[in-house]
Amino acid sequence: MTLKETQTEILNAIKQHQTIIIHRHQRPDPDAIGSQMGLAEILKASFPSKKIYSVGKQYPGFDWLGKTDTIDDDAYKDALVLVLDTANQPRIDDDRYSKGNQLIKIDHHPNDDQFGDPMWVSPEASSTSELVFDLYTAMKPELTCTAEAARLLYAGIVGDTGRFMYPSTSTHTMKVAGELMQFDFSASDVNQKEDEISIPLARLSAYVYENLTILPSGAAYIKLSDEVLEPFKLGDESTSSVVPLPGRIKEVKSWAIFVESKDHTFRIRLRSKGPAINELAKRHGGGGHALASGAVAHDDDEIKQVIKELDALLSKQGE
Ligand code: AMP
Repeated sequence: MTLKETQTEILNAIKQHQTIIIHRHQRPDPDAIGSQMGLAEILKASFPSKKIYSVGKQYPGFDWLGKTDTIDDDAYKDALVLVLDTANQPRIDDDRYSKGNQLIKIDHHPNDDQFGDPMWVSPEASSTSELVFDLYTAMKPELTCTAEAARLLYAGIVGDTGRFMYPSTSTHTMKVAGELMQFDFSASDVNQKEDEISIPLARLSAYVYENLTILPSGAAYIKLSDEVLEPFKLGDESTSSVVPLPGRIKEVKSWAIFVESKDHTFRIRLRSKGPAINELAKRHGGGGHALASGAVAHDDDEIKQVIKELDALLSKQGE
């Protein structure tokens, strides 16, 4: 199927359903929320008589990107379910996603878990928000974009490109961002909002720089156990903003941040400026993009093993 045929099929499915429910991934980031809420805004503006819902856990820190809806199971009967920005089914927020009449996946992660019909998966896209804008552009004038939808999609692109810095930022990404900026919203407000951090996170950033281990190969790592995090009093705040920090250090090529979870396993957050690290993540039950992946370490031995594998990957590169 060509891209245009897939996009047309998605639009036809939207037209055929009176209720549309949009899901995203757990522990959302600005692209998960921006693409979800942005598409919801586009659909509400394009089809005012349809019921359009966005579901998933609401995080107060993301209230500025809109609020999710609380819906009954009944709403799924005869509904179209769109799952955005989520590669693997276990990561979908709200497991009622399979209860609708039709399921569609729109995503930019590697297509490791194939679900949905149709599936529109474009790993070369910077973000799912970019894809949602592409859908709008391809299906104009049947779809309408509002200033609020543009703000949300712009926020998603800014988030997933690290402020247009990561290699996923293409000329097309910049074109889309430019077109979004023509709508009536403040791009600089969005940029500022995504850049600002709380005082506890500022202090934690200092801790990360002070305590990061940097190996001669260019591999770097830090363990953020409950014990380490406790004095920072982060509350419900996510540690996401510290994840890109090691990459600013010239000598660091790839890095792992191990964050203790409630069940005392460690969430592994892997990033790289060079060699792909998603195969390493897959070996530990995770996955993701070539340069941004994640997995779970069950104990200290697995943490040590991940560090060893990261070091070996970079040492091999340097040979
Ligand atoms: P994160 O560090 O959580 O922002 O994750 C970066 C990327 O890695 C995400 O966009 C996902 O594609 C992927 N990822 C993270 N955790 C997992 C996991 N446990 N299983 C599969 N993929 C994951």
